[in-house]
Amino acid sequence: MLRMLKPNAIILHKTRPQVGQEIQACIGCNECLLACPALAEPITIDMLNRETLSGPISEPVARFTRACYQCGACVAPCPVGLHRDAMMLWLKVRLLSSMEEA
Ligand code: SF4
Ligand code: SF4
Repeated sequence: MLRMLKPNAIILHKTRPQVGQEIQACIGCNECLLACPALAEPITIDMLNRETLSGPISEPVARFTRACYQCGACVAPCPVGLHRDAMMLWLKVRLLSSMEEA
């Protein structure tokens, strides 16, 4: 089943362009990460944003991505109304997909 997972092939509650728009709209204030109960090591928001949509996923970001349990605590503190939970869901799928391809 996992072998069939591709970011563009399953239904997420945000599409890839929507996630891209959210990342572009992010002002980098870090409030979402400050509110997150699953973040166990320092990760910069720039790093997380850069690695969310494309390119290699570093080990710290991969660990955080696995640790995210979609609680949604990161959404309310965002001053510009973004959805870090949806961005993380996208990244979870991408991480699974990249592991399958490795
Ligand atoms: S949805 Fe994920 S990133 Fe957002 S606060 Fe919960 S665990 Fe953290
Ligand atoms: S709280 Fe919103 S604007 Fe601030 S870093 Fe997180 S997603 Fe970006």
